Amino acid sequence: MAIEQTLVLIKPDGVQRGLVGEVIRRFEQRGLKISALKMVQADEETSKKHYTDDISKRRGEHVRKQLIDFFKTGPVVAMVIEGVDAIENVRKLCGATESKAALPGTIRGDFSHVSYSHADEKKIVVKNIIHASSSKEDAKTEISVWFNKEEIHTYKRSDEEHVW
Ligand code: ADP
Repeated sequence: MAIEQTLVLIKPDGVQRGLVGEVIRRFEQRGLKISALKMVQADEETSKKHYTDDISKRRGEHVRKQLIDFFKTGPVVAMVIEGVDAIENVRKLCGATESKAALPGTIRGDFSHVSYSHADEKKIVVKNIIHASSSKEDAKTEISVWFNKEEIHTYKRSDEEHVW
């Protein structure tokens, strides 16, 4: 079985909109396990470690700067989510990065709708509620940015024999 761990952040917009429970419910409902969970006000160093130069290359330096500033506006809820092919499964639950393109039924598609062009015109990030790691390599790095080993727990869900 390809049991994976992935890093999820409920971003400041998701926390401030009171969507923490709704987001967590969707992961739990799917049978995914929460292995770590905390609320954090990220300092600039942590945000920069999370949104590395890679984001500048892919999206532009201005987007990286906007993301780092956005993370100063309030706490995030950080989680490690575990399950079979958890990286792909969690990304699917999140939906497309651009809220406008995210399908209804996904977290982004149910709770946000704006386009890149709208965000760019307003010089803000697309407020799409959630971050989830996009590869095994990213998951490993990102988990280590937000969590110490001792904060990540091992336990059995009571429905594991049915779900996994
Ligand atoms: P994802 O979060 O889906 O992995 P990226 O890593 O490419 O996507 O982008 C990180 C975040 O940057 C996105 O979730 C979104 O909030 C924001 N973002 C990306 N591109 C733009 C853009 N052109 N304009 C505004 N915000 C953007």
